[in-house]
Amino acid sequence: MKPVDPNCIFCRIIAGELPAAKVYETEEVLAFMDINPIEKGHVLVIPKPHHATLMVTPAGLLGEVAVAVRCVAEALMDCGADGVNILQSNHAAAGQEVWHLHFHVIPRYDGASSRSWASGNAAYESDAERAEFAGRIRRSVAAVVGDGSR
Ligand code: AMP
Ligand code: ZN
Repeated sequence: MKPVDPNCIFCRIIAGELPAAKVYETEEVLAFMDINPIEKGHVLVIPKPHHATLMVTPAGLLGEVAVAVRCVAEALMDCGADGVNILQSNHAAAGQEVWHLHFHVIPRYDGASSRSWASGNAAYESDAERAEFAGRIRRSVAAVVGDGSR
């Protein structure tokens, strides 16, 4: 396992140095209540090994985290949520504040809450511009997938 980062809040929670309201734990994954919830019942799911972002996390570990996210989302529905948002931020431009991969699992309740982001915030100048974005992303995805190293 990757060593714990002593400067990382979430590593310190895993190490038991900081308190957390844990709701689920395996050898590789921990889920606990967010200290500053977007909605009551807001849970964070993290891998125990320290990886800063989604993009640098090994695929196998990511699979374990994804299954835990699903379990927590199911549990939130069982606990009375009417819907669940999964939110995950990478790098400062996306609002990431804690540099240890985490998925926000946020219960939503009918009539009580809404999406915290909006479709239609940005608009392409033309269909050609959208096609250009699609082409660049398609080529990059092919390179990432074809690379075989992750
Ligand atoms: P992000 O902006 O995606 O990096 O979100 C970081 C999240 O970690 C925020 O929702 C914080 O409320 C949460 N957080 C920070 N410190 C703690 C802590 N000690 N225990 C639980 N949640 C925390
Ligand atoms: Zn960490």
